[in-house]
Amino acid sequence: MMRVDLRSDTLTAPSSGMREAMVHALVGDDVYAEDPTVNSLEERVAQLFGKEAGVFTASGSLANQLGIRMLVGPGEELIAETNSHIVRAELGAAAVFSGITTRTWPANRGLLKASDALEIARPNSGPYLVSTTAIAVENTHNFGGGTVQPLDEIAKLRVGADEMGLALHLDGARIWNAHVATGVALSDYGKFFNTVSVCLSKGLGAPVGSVMLSTKENVAKARVWRKRYGGGMRQVGILAAAGHYALDNNIALLSDDHRRAKYLAKACNSVAASTIDPSHVDTNIVSLDLSSLPFSASDLALKLKAEGVLISALGPNFARLVTHLDINDEGMEFAAAALKRALVS
Ligand SMILES: *Cc1c(COP(=O)(O)O)cnc(C)c1O
Repeated sequence: MMRVDLRSDTLTAPSSGMREAMVHALVGDDVYAEDPTVNSLEERVAQLFGKEAGVFTASGSLANQLGIRMLVGPGEELIAETNSHIVRAELGAAAVFSGITTRTWPANRGLLKASDALEIARPNSGPYLVSTTAIAVENTHNFGGGTVQPLDEIAKLRVGADEMGLALHLDGARIWNAHVATGVALSDYGKFFNTVSVCLSKGLGAPVGSVMLSTKENVAKARVWRKRYGGGMRQVGILAAAGHYALDNNIALLSDDHRRAKYLAKACNSVAASTIDPSHVDTNIVSLDLSSLPFSASDLALKLKAEGVLISALGPNFARLVTHLDINDEGMEFAAAALKRALVS
């Protein structure tokens, strides 16, 4: 039986071309800053986003944690959207590692409205209340359904943050998807933020790797914290080579993921209109709202699994489908047919 795995875009296996690039990577000891492939990847990604420097990390969570650690001191506050990855999916790392507290604003589909964030920001709160020092933005928004954040709201947030003396962090795990969906240059996203994290291991298909970008000074400090957290890696050019390969070959392919996600959303909508509005599918994630159906997200996941289609049940009524490099048109059609049957039975 065919197997179509839509649980996440982290599930891709490196392609043969990517593996080939990894085999031939020049390497050195990266803790000594002597791995040429890591060094060139860090410089390349920094340049793409118009930042001074970058530091390669084993995960997007580590890149986020290093970024916010540079902006927010212990006992200070980072504010973020309620369902953001930093708040919900990093296991309290900001509190555990950095003594950072978080406060959140809710947003429909995770869509950024600058005023939502600015209204709850409380810089310099004196001796009684926690002081806000930074705001995090997730683009695209994962649990929001791959939502692309509007550039004008990001720009407004920057103006407001400057007025309040606040820093901005971009969780850009899927910023590549936003870039491909909108045509906005990566540097036009990067310029609004003090620190940026980007993943090479999501839609871009590398097996491992993220990069945290910022000023030279922040990146130098972040390197110390990366080592302190146990994240100093050695001949890791083997992995950085996969990142280079992904940047060379896989950015343009994201538009196929977006087209396939839209197709799946339309298939779901055609049999159960309340589950998804296909016009809300900006990128490669389809969030299904099952609240008006007589079965739960885990029931749906089980039904689909029996047909060879894997999806994530992320809440009682919330199912997520993610398209990626290892899903082709045949897999898309197979999954769409299974979804149509499962949503009406
Ligand atoms: C996947 C993801 C990350 C990083 O996850 P890791 O599994 O730690 O690499 C960060 N932010 C968002 C929005 C993500 O989807």
